[in-house]
Amino acid sequence: MNAKHKLLIVEDEQAILQGLIDVFVFHGFEVDAAENGKIGLEKALTGNYALILLDVMLPFIDGFTICNKIRDQDKQQPIIMLTAKSSEEDIITGLTLGADDYIAKPFSVRELVLRVHCVLKRSQLHEHENSILQIGPMQIDSANLIQINTNQPCTFSRRELDILNYLHSNSQRPVSREELLQHVWGYQQADAIETRTVDIHIAKLRRKIEIDSKQPQYLVTIRGEGYQLLT
Ligand code: CA
Repeated sequence: MNAKHKLLIVEDEQAILQGLIDVFVFHGFEVDAAENGKIGLEKALTGNYALILLDVMLPFIDGFTICNKIRDQDKQQPIIMLTAKSSEEDIITGLTLGADDYIAKPFSVRELVLRVHCVLKRSQLHEHENSILQIGPMQIDSANLIQINTNQPCTFSRRELDILNYLHSNSQRPVSREELLQHVWGYQQADAIETRTVDIHIAKLRRKIEIDSKQPQYLVTIRGEGYQLLT
C-alpha cells in the first residue's frame, strides 16, 4: 500500500461514527464521513473512495437505497454494509443489492478492519484484470462484469464474478461452501448466515447463467460436497 486508502463512512450514530473514524485513522486510512443518507449518497457518487462503509438505518435515505444507486453508477465500488445483528433479512437484502460484504452490529473492530482489508485486497487484484471467462457458450468480461456474446447483456456483481472465477479455476471438482467463504470472502470460520449467503449468490448466478435455474446445466450442486462449475 503506497498512498493512503480513502474511506467513506456513512453512519448516523455519533458514538459509532467517531469510534470508526478513530479506528481507521489509527490503521492508516484517510477517512471521510457522512451523518445522514443524503450527504452520504452525494459523497459516495462524487468522491473517489477505496471503500464505503454504509449503515442501513439512516436519516433521509437508507443504506440499501444508497447501495443501489452506487451500483447503478459503479459496479466495482467496494461497499461493506453495517447491519443489525438480529436481521438476517437486512444482510440478505444488502448482499442482493450488490454490497461486497456486511458486518453485523455490534461488531468487533478487529473483524471489521480485517474485512475492510480483505475487500480492498480483492478489489486491487481485479484492477488490472482483463480476462474473458468462458462458461459453455457464454463469455463474461471480467473487467466490465458483463456477458458479451448475447443480445441481452446481463451484468454481474464483483462478488458473483469472484465466485465464478474460483469455481472455474477448480472446475474439475466440487467446491464446498466453506471453501468458497474462505477463498472468495476471506472468512476463516463460517456461521449459518454466512453459509446461506453462498447459497443466495449461487441462486442469483443460476438465474443469470442458466436457461432453467431450477435445472442447472453449468452451476450444479454435488450433493453433500458443494458446487461445481461445468465449463
Ligand atoms: Ca443508523
